[in-house]
Amino acid sequence: MPPSSPTLRTITRDQHCISRKNISPNALRVLYRLNEAGFGAYLVGGAVRDLLLGEQPKDYDVATDATPEQVKQLFRNCRLIGRRFRLAHVMFGSEIIEVATFRSNSDDGSGQREIDNGRLVRDNIYGSIEEDAVRRDFTANALYYAIADFSVLDYVGGYDDVMARVLRLIGDPERRYREDPVRMLRAVRLAAKLDFSIEPASAKPVPELAPLLGEASNARLFDESLKLFLAGHGARGFELLEHYRLLPALLPDTAAALELDASGLCRELVMKALRNSDARIAEDRSVTPAFLFAALLWPAYAQDLQTLLQQGHDLAVAEQRAADRVTLRQTSRIAIPRRFSQPMHEIWWMQSRFSQRQQRKRVFRLLAHPRFRAAFDFLELRASAVPELQEEYLWWQRAQGMTPDELAASLPGKTPARRQPKATEKITAADAQEGSGEAATRSPRRRRRSRKPAVPAE
Ligand code: ATP
Ligand code: MG
Repeated sequence: MPPSSPTLRTITRDQHCISRKNISPNALRVLYRLNEAGFGAYLVGGAVRDLLLGEQPKDYDVATDATPEQVKQLFRNCRLIGRRFRLAHVMFGSEIIEVATFRSNSDDGSGQREIDNGRLVRDNIYGSIEEDAVRRDFTANALYYAIADFSVLDYVGGYDDVMARVLRLIGDPERRYREDPVRMLRAVRLAAKLDFSIEPASAKPVPELAPLLGEASNARLFDESLKLFLAGHGARGFELLEHYRLLPALLPDTAAALELDASGLCRELVMKALRNSDARIAEDRSVTPAFLFAALLWPAYAQDLQTLLQQGHDLAVAEQRAADRVTLRQTSRIAIPRRFSQPMHEIWWMQSRFSQRQQRKRVFRLLAHPRFRAAFDFLELRASAVPELQEEYLWWQRAQGMTPDELAASLPGKTPARRQPKATEKITAADAQEGSGEAATRSPRRRRRSRKPAVPAE
């Protein structure tokens, strides 16, 4: 359907399954208030799609013909944000309802819309609801739930596509991807998350246009990557990235390392990490971006490290250099904040320390490291892909179950001259914190880090 001539299909309340019972009360409050003030008020985007699928939306977007300033006047708890898109955020404690004024995709010459080399950089032209619908990415994301009569308005055939679980770009796919290459990543992410297929004409240009993703803002790619890998469908998302040849654009070093790794062990490690994260999310357990990126970039780090060691560098120098190089190159694509890249380095650094089990002091120091748990989980991951690491993994697992005295007795060398917990105590997090102080005074790497604020246990 050409985007310039959308025809409206109204799906009335008795023809669809969306009930107000399943909509956030705060979103309903915003919709009703706008409506009472005489403005159009619609739930739009992912929330309508998810409600039609019988899923619980994770956030709610509202579209209206009120300008952001008019929205602000209606709500005390409202903040205006954004440059590229000017939006109103209505805040209810931790829940934010995003309210956007209908926008148009056509340039009226006012300078409110900036296109740079085929790409949208600023987009603040207000428009009609039809225009707002056709500037969205997928038909499934362009449905409007009207609070006035509880109907769903469909200008682009999105209702049938949701029912058929199909992702279809609105308009000419190639032009829409060129306009915003992140839409290619969104296609893969939504296909993985919703278990939708990507309609052939929307899928076809992706492998060829994939390199354009490298020009997208690295901050946006960080946000989209977290949504792709840490929202419960990361393993499927990764497979789709490979299938559509998006991996070299998003994680170039990882893609190159996987290509070189004939054994397939590196890919297995990455897939295992993603499956573990998916399983943890399904159980409502936390997952950390540091661990995720440690796994995603491990193939590149391990290969770089190997090369540097072969060139004759010391282990410590080679580790530092490989970690710095891989991180520097990756952050030009995905802006991984330091609060995640720092612990990622520590997880990597500890992997080679796990094989050093001869000296008591080193063993205690490693157990006391604040990142021990994450690094040990990473060792478990490596051991599940590489059988030779099983023994090492089991050794460290046993060590954690011992009291400090039992552990000290099982190791050669002197007992470390610091306060020893009672013989009956297991080695605890408190011991770990205490021990990390000792490590901090000994290792230059730790000393530098110790000035930084603590990394949140996200
Ligand atoms: P999720 O459920 O994962 O949040 P979503 O579809 O709601 O998925 P958002 O990033 O929250 O994704 O975007 C909200 C809506 O904004 C989308 O449903 C879509 O209509 C529109 N949108 C988002 N990104 C784009 C884009 N790059 N181009 C066009 N429209 C977009
Ligand atoms: Mg959303």
